[in-house]
Amino acid sequence: MTPMPVSNRRIGVDIGGTKIDAIVFDSYDQIIFEKRVATPKAYEPMVKAIAALVHEAGQGSVGIGAPGTAHPTTGVWRNSNFVAANGQRMEKDLVAAIGRPIRVENDANCFALSEAKDGAGAGYGVVAFFTIGTGLGGGLVVDGKIIRGANAEAAEFGHTGLPWMTEQDWPPVKCFCGKQGCAEMYVSGTGLEMDYKRVTGTALVGPQIITNARLGEAQGLAALKRLQNRFARICANILNVIDPDVFVMGGGLSALPELVEELPPLISPYTFSGQAKAQVQRAKHGGNSGVRGAARLWD
Ligand SMILES: [Zn+2]
Repeated sequence: MTPMPVSNRRIGVDIGGTKIDAIVFDSYDQIIFEKRVATPKAYEPMVKAIAALVHEAGQGSVGIGAPGTAHPTTGVWRNSNFVAANGQRMEKDLVAAIGRPIRVENDANCFALSEAKDGAGAGYGVVAFFTIGTGLGGGLVVDGKIIRGANAEAAEFGHTGLPWMTEQDWPPVKCFCGKQGCAEMYVSGTGLEMDYKRVTGTALVGPQIITNARLGEAQGLAALKRLQNRFARICANILNVIDPDVFVMGGGLSALPELVEELPPLISPYTFSGQAKAQVQRAKHGGNSGVRGAARLWD
């Protein structure tokens, strides 16, 4: 077999809360390298870990996905739930550590790009993406292009307010972004755990709450129902603004049928007409979408 020209190699890196993933695509979009390391808690060790991963991945273009966004003029990283990165010039520091040009993008946008290209959003015009994991990320791709917005803040669905609040949602939960009542504080793994503790007084981890619900335990079932209803409201709110052709759900919690297959009829009543039919699909590439999209930032 003829060796691949190195210029066609594309390296993707996805910085997560607990792990950093790296892959390399060859020119046929085949993954020829994969590695995962634990995310260091502090900023400088994280930069070093990424540089080491890229060097191990070898030659090729470098795309990096991370929670948060770069300020469009100053480049200062902000709004990341990986708080050590906030206030840092992450792209500049990574270029210095890696020694070649890179592209850095919000991780949910990378996810969206991947799913729009060859995943569950392929063939649709307006695609709204959610990553429902520790937090709630959003992405918007129109005709194959990431919509970043004038302030690089488009599709921050997790930091729109939870709409049509009820007594069960009250008082609004304080968010790490400084506001209160953000969608992410309710619909995310963290949100599920906080909600369960608020209502029952007992602290349980998300997977345990879900296991209990599957066993028919009342408190777990109720927590899952609240999660589902809140997510339906958030989707309806987005539908009322952009009415996407499809919603694509990724992240750990997107494995739940409550947040994918069962969602469309729950969205409808909250839409303006009360009858809108939302298309909801599960991400095709699962947890790999973020890193696949990062590798495609130079496509
Ligand atoms: Zn917020």
